[in-house]
Amino acid sequence: MPTGAPQQPSSRRILIVEDNELNVKLLRDILEFHGYETIVTDSGAEAVSLSRQDRPDLILLDIQLPDIPGTEVARQLKADRQTRDIPIIAVTAFAMPGDRQRFLDAGCDDYVSKPFRIHDILAIVERSIDSRSSVRC
Ligand code: MN
Repeated sequence: MPTGAPQQPSSRRILIVEDNELNVKLLRDILEFHGYETIVTDSGAEAVSLSRQDRPDLILLDIQLPDIPGTEVARQLKADRQTRDIPIIAVTAFAMPGDRQRFLDAGCDDYVSKPFRIHDILAIVERSIDSRSSVRC
């Protein structure tokens, strides 16, 4: 699948919710190189307030966070009319049978397992943002 070098410049903003600094750096570098703006937090509670305030176009959500679980973040965002349309991609090392369904049940739209591949992250980000904009138009 073609995932060309830097995409069209855009103001597409992605909220990265992740408490591992190396993962934050990697995700940020990949996404910014491809023309996305990033917002970063390591707190689930702050992810909820930032989502309401900054209206990101997509959220990459770690499930194991220092304060509240990512699944709880997803539940809160999907219960709020202001934020329920923002696609949420769970990015997590959980890989037990049933975990994927658990993330989807909590309101996540998709799931990428860690360690993630750059190609997979970009593909899922592009697909999620595109599907949202086509629904909206
Ligand atoms: Mn974590």
